Amino acid sequence: MANEPWQQALQESLTAPEQLLDRFDFDPLPLKAVAERYPMRIPSYYLDLIQAVGDPIWRQCVPDLRELDETGLFDPLGEEDLSPTPAVIHRYPDRVIFLASGSCASYCRFCTRKRKVGCSALSMSFRELREGIDYIAATPQIKDVILSGGDPLLLPDSVLGDLLARIQAIPHVEIIRIGSRVPVTLPERITDKLCALLARFEPLYLNTHFNHPREITEQARQACGKLSRAGIPLGNQTVLLRGVNDDPQTMIALFRGLLKIRVKPYYLHQMDLACGTAHFRTPISAGLEILKALRGPVSGLATPHYVIDLPGGKGKVPLLPEYVKRRGEVLEIRTPAGELVEYPDCSLLS
Ligand SMILES: *Cc1c(COP(=O)(O)O)cnc(C)c1O
Ligand code: SF4
Repeated sequence: MANEPWQQALQESLTAPEQLLDRFDFDPLPLKAVAERYPMRIPSYYLDLIQAVGDPIWRQCVPDLRELDETGLFDPLGEEDLSPTPAVIHRYPDRVIFLASGSCASYCRFCTRKRKVGCSALSMSFRELREGIDYIAATPQIKDVILSGGDPLLLPDSVLGDLLARIQAIPHVEIIRIGSRVPVTLPERITDKLCALLARFEPLYLNTHFNHPREITEQARQACGKLSRAGIPLGNQTVLLRGVNDDPQTMIALFRGLLKIRVKPYYLHQMDLACGTAHFRTPISAGLEILKALRGPVSGLATPHYVIDLPGGKGKVPLLPEYVKRRGEVLEIRTPAGELVEYPDCSLLS
């Protein structure tokens, strides 16, 4: 079967640090061991977004020696313990993550599942996918199935269509979500044919993963436009990354830029404790400062929930700057502009 252009582009991606020497002046040798431990893949579209060694795009996709630092947790979210069958992570009663694919268009250096992505450990066999579907079918409280991985949109159209059809056929499943970074790293994957396929499934939500305003290109805008026109509401999950996007001005540009391409910022994730990602971690105060900078000057639509996913599978918890300065019958509340305002609680009025 002839490859589609996006599959061709994927095959031609860079997979070894020394291949970057054509364009950039750096020493790739020490990075070889990193790429052997955690795979590298950079499609030519995403490569073209790098302007200089160490810039925000480089840091997301080029291996870094600090990844060999062993501090951190192997399975930071306790996902292995929440896995009733290899393809499913079931932490919340009404929704599951379905690990549909083991590979991604580009391997993010900060990935929470970096222990597994790009390795055979996350490539589900047809039998494992089938067992995952059987588990969902046998568990009536599951209403929401989130295809993840890896990147589900790296599956060929035929496999993806078959999987979606089997999930949609389960009577108690009300919505399907797809988590995919291809609008950011391989926008040519968002073909008309894919959009026509996805449009058959309703309601289908797609969460993508932009981390920096420079990722919002004309090609990304077109990819998101096609998905929107296929009737798919688009959200975005951003990871707060040191040296990439950990300042309010970058985040404001990112979230405003996303709204312009009809993508709603959904979550801002505190970096979790995954092994090999410590150099990306910021203090919680950096995330709270970003939220403070957004609230007031920038549309509420542009503001995601800032969440920390607690270790051991304890779940996501939202973090908010402290606006309530004093509680009691009369609260003292700090406005985004810094003014203190008193507000009577309803216990006083009754
Ligand atoms: C984040 C997550 C979900 C989805 O959570 P929402 O808040 O509904 O987006 C589901 N299952 C697991 C295991 C998760 O980590
Ligand atoms: S696209 Fe998602 S799953 Fe794949 S490497 Fe990046 S963060 Fe991890």
